[in-house]
Amino acid sequence: SAKKQGKNRYVRFTNDDSQKVTDFYNILQKLTTGIENKEFNMVYQPIVNCKSGEITTVEALIRWNNKDIGQITPDRFIPIAESHGKIADIQYCMIEQVSRDIALFSELGVLASHSFRVAINLSASQIVDIVHLSEFLAYITDKGILPSQISLEITESMIVSDEQHIIDYLASLIDQGFQINMDDFGTGYSSLSYLTKIPLSAIKLDKSFIEPILKKTEQRALVDGVLRLAHSLNLTVVAEGVENDLQRETLSKMGCDCIQGFAVAKPMPPKKLVKWITHYYEQ
Ligand code: C2E
Ligand code: MG
Ligand code: MG
Ligand code: MG
Repeated sequence: SAKKQGKNRYVRFTNDDSQKVTDFYNILQKLTTGIENKEFNMVYQPIVNCKSGEITTVEALIRWNNKDIGQITPDRFIPIAESHGKIADIQYCMIEQVSRDIALFSELGVLASHSFRVAINLSASQIVDIVHLSEFLAYITDKGILPSQISLEITESMIVSDEQHIIDYLASLIDQGFQINMDDFGTGYSSLSYLTKIPLSAIKLDKSFIEPILKKTEQRALVDGVLRLAHSLNLTVVAEGVENDLQRETLSKMGCDCIQGFAVAKPMPPKKLVKWITHYYEQ
């Protein structure tokens, strides 16, 4: 705010700011009806193993298309939903769609032949509330989805405490067959000690590390260090936001395990994904 910036600084309330405020209220208001009308759908982005080429996972990413405001990206509406008590409803909408899509993947045979996991993004409030999270996961398995078909993506900012009961609960999820992966690794400003406490399968190196990898030696050193650290802890490393073949080859040579990004494929609606997978393995 203007006050925070000091009394000698004159900060105008610009058109840009007022646009943001209208945006915010508009989105918040439309979210309620959007949830009622189930205006959300899912797209899926494949994650492939660098060495074998196999599709290990497809990440489920939410999309919202509102008839008045059009297509709104999750980066804009998820934080608003999170801070205004709407995220749980959205996560249930999401998982309902994901379960229907998993049924489609099974029906069309792609799941049986290529056994990949579907990764879903958890929200911060789901991690701190174990009762809520266990209800949510029970809802998934009630729909006939097996824990072995799902990866749960969490972020560093969700690890607000290293409370033993949360860690024990996450360990019990692994016993059930779920996988837990750390999303946006390296952006959470958190201590790395969680790496030895939380039973993770993989870390997903945030795209901000990948983008400058071809330009800066220091950047490569950083990624190299993360790869060594992760591998010494038996963690798989997924690079996010890999946009071109040069980045893909560089990461692969450095020993990165898996790749996600436009260089492989953009997120796709379920039927398109099925076609993409079939074609991918035919090549
Ligand atoms: P995320 O989980 O880190 O997802 C990866 C984001 O990177 C996605 O953005 C994806 O479309 C984008 N991406 C993939 N490849 C590339 C690339 O090569 N270059 C660039 N520049 N971007 C790439 P998206 O779909 O807009 O989602 C943004 C964030 O919203 C996600 O980040 C996740 O944190 C959140 N989100 C998405 N779906 C859900 C959901 O169902 N539930 C919750 N709670 N959060 C979600
Ligand atoms: Mg994610
Ligand atoms: Mg990510
Ligand atoms: Mg991200």
